[in-house]
Amino acid sequence: MGKIKILPENIANKIAAGEVVERPASVVKELVENSLDAGSGKITVEVKNGGKELIRVIDDGAGMTYDDAVLSVERHATSKIQSLRDLESITTLGFRGEALPSIAAVSRFELVTRTRESIEGTRVRVEGGVRRDVERVGSPIGTRVTVSNLFYNIPARRKFLKSNVTELDHIIKYITSAGLAHPQVSFKLISDDKTIIEARRCDTVIERIHALYGRDFAENVVELSLGFETVKLHAFIGKPEFTKSSRDYQLFFLNLRPIRSNLLSSAVGSAFKSILPKGRYPVVILFLEVDPKLVDVNVHPAKAEVRFRDERSIYSEVMRCLSMAMQSQEYIPLMDKPVLEAKKTKVETTAYPRKVEVESSVFKYLDRQKQEKPTFTFSRPKLLPGESDQWQVRQKELSATPSIDLENIQLKARLFNTYIVVEAENDVLFIDQHIADERVIYEKLKSQMEQSAVSSQGLLLPLTVELSPAQMSALDIAMELLTDMGFELERFGGRTVIIRAVPALMQRGDIKQIVTDLIDQVASSYNGQDKLKLQEELLIMSACRSAIQAGDALTDAEALRLLKELFNTSQPFMCPHGRPIIVRMNRAELDERFQRK
Ligand code: ADP
Ligand code: MG
Repeated sequence: MGKIKILPENIANKIAAGEVVERPASVVKELVENSLDAGSGKITVEVKNGGKELIRVIDDGAGMTYDDAVLSVERHATSKIQSLRDLESITTLGFRGEALPSIAAVSRFELVTRTRESIEGTRVRVEGGVRRDVERVGSPIGTRVTVSNLFYNIPARRKFLKSNVTELDHIIKYITSAGLAHPQVSFKLISDDKTIIEARRCDTVIERIHALYGRDFAENVVELSLGFETVKLHAFIGKPEFTKSSRDYQLFFLNLRPIRSNLLSSAVGSAFKSILPKGRYPVVILFLEVDPKLVDVNVHPAKAEVRFRDERSIYSEVMRCLSMAMQSQEYIPLMDKPVLEAKKTKVETTAYPRKVEVESSVFKYLDRQKQEKPTFTFSRPKLLPGESDQWQVRQKELSATPSIDLENIQLKARLFNTYIVVEAENDVLFIDQHIADERVIYEKLKSQMEQSAVSSQGLLLPLTVELSPAQMSALDIAMELLTDMGFELERFGGRTVIIRAVPALMQRGDIKQIVTDLIDQVASSYNGQDKLKLQEELLIMSACRSAIQAGDALTDAEALRLLKELFNTSQPFMCPHGRPIIVRMNRAELDERFQRK
């Protein structure tokens, strides 16, 4: 007699449950995914005690026949793939055939289901993985799964569950993300007899965002859709004045499946790094549509993580999408929002063209990228044979291309020696001359540094400064960093330092003061590591200090030069500190105020 035995099925299921079923929210996720896969139009989730006592998911989807219902709780029973080849192009949420048996192995489980064709339904009851009975019962079309006393037979797992509030929070987060991905499906979440989420079916994601997160949220995201080579992106990006204190509002979907992705998180992180203040996070809801062949979704039992075949291009295309969003006109903070009616669903996003040229006080936009409007459709993949109509979501044409024309922008005024006023189509733009110049200098300095091509300007009369002991202690590292930026400093014995040259871009400001402030900054924040971060701070500081200041009187030509340079930067709307450079007032709002409607 050998020692190896095949495990009895109910034990194997219990083990598998450990991977698929972590907590009540994972049960909700698996059941809701099944309902979505079954083409449901309405899904109701009911939970008690954070799902620990009861989880019930009711759908009006395709339902199952008697035989299928019995099979569905068996291991590796799935209607969604038949061969290995299918595994390479998965379009359904489920495919492993593990969820129902795994859930049934660790709970008291009941399934009631009926297809449109059958006159009566089927009820299957399983307790701790052991099938109790199968009966024919009356049932509406669709499926109702009830999971009671989760982990009642695995006390160790039950102990690990968090408070009801926390478990419910996970459930809410899941339903929210499923709701975002499937606006055409009605969702309802009832917890302890109270309705927590009610989202009726609608046509667009932005309507769904409105239903789930509220109007303020919906009005503060910029929507855009872009088709790239390997990925189509449909993004909702929070405006810079609408930030959050956590990453909870960064949601990623791959082919409508909610995913976690370090790759995408880090793309978002670096795109917003120089725009948002520390500790604030952008709202980013990102739907990626990728050919299923180019991703592996079968790397995680709950399919929460995926592997992209070509990470590099996904990363760069997501970065491009984010930067386009940041250049869109909607991304410029509006002066006064409340007066305007809630914007209707916007599909087109506008962005300023990148290059402008001054021509007799009018911006002439020369180098417009002759982009084709990329259009694409989002559709729920087809699935079960014969169910194509149910499956197909209304296909929506989405497109986004910069469409604002700088030819029509004109310099209208300069106010308080601080703001430059220009008119752009239906907007009045107020540009802060100091912050604009700061952005220009910052980007130029930074790109010179990145190309190791910093240009310095020797001083006719070298300056000497006397440093404090604290400044002296940071002098070595400060000199290294400042030299990289184009300064030339020299120790002159004692605590004296000679400034021989400055970056050519820094033509304003009190040089002595700037240099000592930069050294102070190094002294106070250098911690032996993270030189890059410090370098960035020094850059921002230098740009700020040597920029045109508020109150400086500019000529029209200077103002125009500044605007031209500003629109050539990668981020003309936001300074490196996160302050807005441009504030926009909409003509519609003016009209409204004067009751011109
Ligand atoms: P998978 O979803 O990976 O196929 P599951 O264990 O979740 O595996 O479900 C097994 C099968 O049961 C599914 O393939 C599907 O055919 C059927 N099924 C499960 N839930 C539903 C539902 N709500 N409506 C219709 N069919 C369902
Ligand atoms: Mg499933």
